[in-house]
Amino acid sequence: MKANRIYNFNPGPAALPLQVLEEIQESFLNYDGSGMSVIEISHRSPWFDEIINDAVARTRRLLKLGDDFHVLFIQGGASLQFAMVPMNLLGGDDRADYVNTGTWSTKAIAEARLLKKNIRVPASSEDRGFSYIPADISFDSGAVYAHITSNNTIKGTQYAQFPDTGGVPLVADMSSDIMSRTFDAGRFGLIYAGAQKNIGPAGVCLVIIRRDMLERVPDGLPSMLKYTTYAAKNSLYNTPPCFAIYTVQLVLKWLEETVGGLEKMEAVNREKAAVLYDLIDGSDFYSGTAEAGSRSLMNVTFRIAEEALEARFVEEALAAGLGGLKGHRSVGGCRASIYNATGLDAVQALAEFMREFERTRG
Ligand SMILES: *Cc1c(COP(=O)(O)O)cnc(C)c1O
Repeated sequence: MKANRIYNFNPGPAALPLQVLEEIQESFLNYDGSGMSVIEISHRSPWFDEIINDAVARTRRLLKLGDDFHVLFIQGGASLQFAMVPMNLLGGDDRADYVNTGTWSTKAIAEARLLKKNIRVPASSEDRGFSYIPADISFDSGAVYAHITSNNTIKGTQYAQFPDTGGVPLVADMSSDIMSRTFDAGRFGLIYAGAQKNIGPAGVCLVIIRRDMLERVPDGLPSMLKYTTYAAKNSLYNTPPCFAIYTVQLVLKWLEETVGGLEKMEAVNREKAAVLYDLIDGSDFYSGTAEAGSRSLMNVTFRIAEEALEARFVEEALAAGLGGLKGHRSVGGCRASIYNATGLDAVQALAEFMREFERTRG
């Protein structure tokens, strides 16, 4: 493998396309004839204008966003969005629904409740250890928005279809599956995604907000905490995380020009996930932790029948060039994060390792 790189199954920060890393490396000392590194140029320069405008344009094309959406880049990660969403969208007595499907939803709910009083949880999958996505949820038709976590990075579940909210705008934390598949963005009032899982390095969060949601933002909020500041200044009110945004731009270019768009990416992602789930389903040695129908295409969580073997599995896999397979510390077990940049070749190598590990230990 090139430069002794391993197959990377890290949950986040996670694998980036090799082509993107090489492009960064090649242009690192002298960006586009500027005589400066991309991390040395001004965020007010024409070079950076082109970077951020191209990143926004590619986001719009890939997700087929209408003109009524703003594309913003904000620091503070998805975790800051847990607070910014209710702060910006909910007035005094306004209500919001939050579906609880795991660790990140739980955090989003806790943060919203710190700030606002009318936060309702119409459905939760906590009763079965967050191993599934609730169905037939009855949403509050008077809510300002309904918040979901589209993919549950830690528990390994994902919405196969987004719920019917009866016209209430969806707000989604898509940190771990943005740009992994096609969906109808028109039903969303706001989407946020920390870049470090599927579209770039840590340090920037992509926020997509619809105009009617932007109109709800109260004037009295601090400048750095309100979406209107970012929307009015093309995310350049203050110095943005230039390098992170540049990397996102290159990842989106890779998605459009090398992969060929989200339909193609989704087909590859489905094929990758099927390789692992088929192996798990055909084995008594491995067992999946997410219920069928709710399984994530991005984070494949599984246990080994003999628990003592799990640490050995993770260790021996790493020795074989397969990294990042330990489950989240809160749930244990194993997890293969197979985001966009982790290719079918990596997944096939992992499947081969899993079969061999079962054969020799099972
Ligand atoms: C990783 C993750 C987060 C936290 O993101 P930060 O950028 O570290 O704040 C939130 N939600 C989901 C779904 C995640 O996977």
